Amino acid sequence: MSATSSDLVKLATVYISLKESRRTLRGRCPFHRDAGESLMISPEKNIFKCFGCGKEGGPAEFKLAMEQLIKS
Ligand SMILES: [Zn+2]
Repeated sequence: MSATSSDLVKLATVYISLKESRRTLRGRCPFHRDAGESLMISPEKNIFKCFGCGKEGGPAEFKLAMEQLIKS
């Protein structure tokens, strides 16, 4: 398994900046107009969830959503 495609934190930091907050990382969600930091990433579980738009998943979902965002 390659680290670049399977590590969600590494993947996400290509697009957004993340702040450490206890056991999770928080950042501005790239998938909706985010005024705060609604996106949460759990490095432990390798998943993300946005409390603003409800998007969630793992590295594959993040990458796919990001690609769709860039295309549109
Ligand atoms: Zn969002």
